[in-house]
Amino acid sequence: MQYDVTVIGSGPGGYVAAIRAAQLGMKTAIIEKYDVLGGTCLNVGCIPSKALLDSSEHYYNAAHHFAEHGIEIEAPKVNLGQMIARKKGVVEKMNNGINFLMKKNKITVYNGFGSFVDKNTIKIKKADESEEQITSEKVIIATGSKPTILPFMNYDKKRIITSTEALNLTEIPKHLIVIGAGVIGAELGSVYARLGAKVTFVEFADSMIPTMDKTMGKELQKSVKKLGTDFYFNTKVTKIENLGEEVVVSADGADGKPVEIKGDYCLVCIGRRAYIDGLNLEAVGVTTDRGKVVVDEHTLETNVKGIYAIGDVIRGAMLAHKAEEEGVLVAEIMNGQKPHINYNLIPGVVYTWPEVASVGQTEEELKAKGVSYKTGQFPFKALGRATASGDTDGLVKILANKETDEVLGVHIIGARAADMIAEAVMAMEFRASAEDIARTSHAHPTYMEAVKEAALAATDNRPIHT
Ligand code: FAD
Ligand code: NAD
Repeated sequence: MQYDVTVIGSGPGGYVAAIRAAQLGMKTAIIEKYDVLGGTCLNVGCIPSKALLDSSEHYYNAAHHFAEHGIEIEAPKVNLGQMIARKKGVVEKMNNGINFLMKKNKITVYNGFGSFVDKNTIKIKKADESEEQITSEKVIIATGSKPTILPFMNYDKKRIITSTEALNLTEIPKHLIVIGAGVIGAELGSVYARLGAKVTFVEFADSMIPTMDKTMGKELQKSVKKLGTDFYFNTKVTKIENLGEEVVVSADGADGKPVEIKGDYCLVCIGRRAYIDGLNLEAVGVTTDRGKVVVDEHTLETNVKGIYAIGDVIRGAMLAHKAEEEGVLVAEIMNGQKPHINYNLIPGVVYTWPEVASVGQTEEELKAKGVSYKTGQFPFKALGRATASGDTDGLVKILANKETDEVLGVHIIGARAADMIAEAVMAMEFRASAEDIARTSHAHPTYMEAVKEAALAATDNRPIHT
């Protein structure tokens, strides 16, 4: 065989799997259909969206908060072209970083579309239509996902767009209609609302980010509303039309009455689907279920020996760090190690401001399972650090087992929640009790003190500062 392992797809799952396999001494190849490595996350996902979230937040603070801090400036103006150019620069820097890592680890990179000829042979079709075949002892499918689009949405990439186009707009929409108030809707809706667009969310469920703990959705909605946004909940979109300069969204409203919303752009973000198009999985007999590759729960091997799958293309949360953990796991399994992923402790983060971050079980899940639990909450407005910075929106909510005090879930909305959640993940990884966190010294004044105070509230209802 030419290679010990070949990875198809260079997203955070694929390139991390390739590096770990190479570290373990495997002769490794990676195939990517685009010219650049890094997948959805680096090129049209995590990184560019965070670059625009950061830029739009700087603008919003300059326009709305500098004066209260005693900083007087002329009314700032948005230069969207520069914001997008900066975002491209950020992505390019990281593309170069991955190229460097491939070279450093002696991983052979093939740019082209990979498909199975048989279980050990992969055909690579290049941009110039030429083809090459490589052979490999083992294969990892890491082909990721694409946005879900329904036919009645008339996706035209111009006015009816997905996250991919929303990261490259040439003008700020006057009125952006966002279909789906999930993670992408909340993040990219925030970007354009901060830059001055009117933003209207149309959501099928009864709250924003409906899969997270309900308290988070309720609190996030209050903060996002301050940007002048509107919401239609319990509303099912039935048609989206581009009438030239105008986009019209038709839906069945909460009270059963028809709803019609007019705007100039419509961002469709109703979830993503696993991407297995063109892989020719039939040739090798890899089993799929509703478009996802089916894998063994522990080894992530498919039903075909030697073929594994990781990341968005398999079951579970569609998150970059989940894909990375699975990439490492598969490389180690191939080398006889016995790694394990605790899927309950994969944190979820929404990079709005305030940020939302969550790990473990939600209150709704605990109720549904009949687990006996207790809750401790602490608001950011009672924190010295939050008062000093002016970031007083939000709270920390800790759910602990009523009998044993073991922490079962931590849900944070507030400044820097994305970084704060790491403490909760670590504590839960070591099966900490709420009292363990409550008795751990937290530096003052920090946002992290809210975690200690919420743990005090959960332990024995004895927070100090509320
Ligand atoms: P992908 O990153 O999708 O990579 C798959 C790669 O495979 C692609 O490069 C594709 O071109 C390639 N490919 C597919 N088929 C073939 C083939 N046949 N031959 C060769 N190459 C092929 N997650 C987070 O954790 N944090 C975030 O902040 C975050 N923000 C996001 C923001 C947006 C707007 C979006 C859309 C997603 C975001 N995500 C975020 C989700 C994250 O991007 C995905 O979970 C992650 O990229 C999945 O990694 P992956 O390796 O499974 O697949
Ligand atoms: P999502 O699942 O987070 O949200 C989709 C929303 O659309 C849901 O709230 C759903 O109720 C709603 N919806 C579905 N059909 C609808 C309809 N017909 N009309 C109205 N509303 C409808 O999906 P997403 O926001 O598209 O994001 C896709 C994936 O990308 C997510 O799984 C997420 O994990 C990942 N992502 C992660 C991050 C992050 O980690 N910060 C950021 C962006 C994306």
